Amino acid sequence: MDRSLHNLFRFFIFLGLIILPILSCISSTNSDSYKESRARMVKNDIENRGIHDHAVKEAMLKVPRHLFVGPENIEAAYSDSALPIKENQTISQPYVVALMTTVAELSSTDKVLEVGTGSGYQAAVLGEIVREVYSIEIIESLARESSELLNKLGYKNIHVKHGDGYQGWKEAAPFDAILITAAAPKIPEPLLNQLKMEGRLVMPLGKNHAPQELIALTKTENGLKKRVVEIVAFVPMTGEVRNSGFK
Ligand code: SAM
Repeated sequence: MDRSLHNLFRFFIFLGLIILPILSCISSTNSDSYKESRARMVKNDIENRGIHDHAVKEAMLKVPRHLFVGPENIEAAYSDSALPIKENQTISQPYVVALMTTVAELSSTDKVLEVGTGSGYQAAVLGEIVREVYSIEIIESLARESSELLNKLGYKNIHVKHGDGYQGWKEAAPFDAILITAAAPKIPEPLLNQLKMEGRLVMPLGKNHAPQELIALTKTENGLKKRVVEIVAFVPMTGEVRNSGFK
């Protein structure tokens, strides 16, 4: 080999030996810093508020919430608040995601329906815990983008479709649990029909842009058992649920 070519070759090897460890150090520092942010979020905003469900905490330690928000909100992704996403919608506050997931009383063999995919974050948390997640989003671009992201992250057990969640997902029913992540003025009847006996439905019940009650329903042989879990503020459920005189 020509001497100058040989020197050039050695120079690039030398450069590689210096640059590669630096790059890998930078990238591991970044992923570690989000790992630490997640740990802080779970400790301060979830455990310290009384949520101790092991599976929920493990899922929220794992799901990279910063990938479910826009670039402008990455640094706020692990803060104690809901954040804006595209189409004037929101990704729910981590505590509320943890609370809804906990009161749904999930087990690893469950099949769950989510109405309101939004960013896909709640679906990912569910996907870490249960066997199968079906999630419906009424805004087409959100359905498409969240589906792409969940695929990219390797969630093979999460199925997203574009549509009005009011009618549920008949082909996949019945469900062990249903989570509605937008506020509705009434409980959508078709969803109750797609809930298994002893299944749980968790949703914010109330008017638009007003505090709503986060309710947990259990379907029993003797009717619905309802409890109010918390007061919350969600964006409204749109579509067919608005067609019956409710504002
Ligand atoms: N779960 C989401 C997440 O983790 O990012 C947050 C959901 S955001 C608070 C509410 C979502 O419900 C919005 O994306 C909205 O478009 C959607 N939505 C509203 N009405 C709906 C309906 N009838 N069917 C399906 N999705 C609906």
